[in-house]
Amino acid sequence: MKTVYHYFGRFGEAFEEILKQEGIRYTILYVPNDTEPIYTFDLASTSKRFSAQYASISPYAKPLDVRLVSSAKETQTAQWLSIIPHRTCVEVLNYDEAMLYYCPKTKYASGWNPPIHDQEQIGLFKIRALPKRTQAAFYTGDTGFEILFCDERVVNMVKDEAVCGVEFKPVLSQHGKVYDRIYQMSSLNVVKRSQIVLGHGEAFCECPYCGSRQIVLRNDQQLHIDSKALESYSDFCMTESIFGEGIAHPFYLISQRFYQLLKKNKLLSKLSVFPVVLV
Ligand SMILES: [Zn+2]
Repeated sequence: MKTVYHYFGRFGEAFEEILKQEGIRYTILYVPNDTEPIYTFDLASTSKRFSAQYASISPYAKPLDVRLVSSAKETQTAQWLSIIPHRTCVEVLNYDEAMLYYCPKTKYASGWNPPIHDQEQIGLFKIRALPKRTQAAFYTGDTGFEILFCDERVVNMVKDEAVCGVEFKPVLSQHGKVYDRIYQMSSLNVVKRSQIVLGHGEAFCECPYCGSRQIVLRNDQQLHIDSKALESYSDFCMTESIFGEGIAHPFYLISQRFYQLLKKNKLLSKLSVFPVVLV
């Protein structure tokens, strides 16, 4: 795994000299009606010059984003991978109807909300409109990564290849009609909170009302799971919905076989995959 530091900002024109001296490749963006250039570049922890480059620019620029990136080999050899779709295009209309919340203070409403956690899905989701057809076969809601949606290409592949562990739920239009090319992807195979192995720098977000704790995993931290938790599962499973700072989300996990099938069927567009560490 390598850590990639992504920089984006108005760091001043003198800063460009440092980038040149350090041999850092960068892009300059100009915003209309703004004379100050925006510099954008990445530093990777695996580069030979990383330590020197990072030290030189640190006094002037802070990374906007730090994330782990796996090599092709790491992705191709991991037993299990977590998946995160980057297409956030589904507007869910009926959370209050479809979800049961166990924390009395947790409720969807406009304005400020406490963290939303310990919810159980008791009904089907209604959505505003079908997402436009693109290459991406997976997508998620526009309020955050909590619900996994996919299109019928994934459903067909799962059936054809006898992929195990997936439960597809119908998705409804605002008038209650069942859509035929969007599905919610879920699993009855659930990795429990006690099977998540902590102690790798995670933070926690505590509900001020009931004390329930969500695990906050940064983009540069890997998910660690007790290997026994996944022994009896094949192809697809999910964790309990206990991650994140706002609306609690699960991680959806796919086996190496499932990953290879998605790759073969060209269904990985706009989908990040991260190797899970089995402890
Ligand atoms: Zn609570």
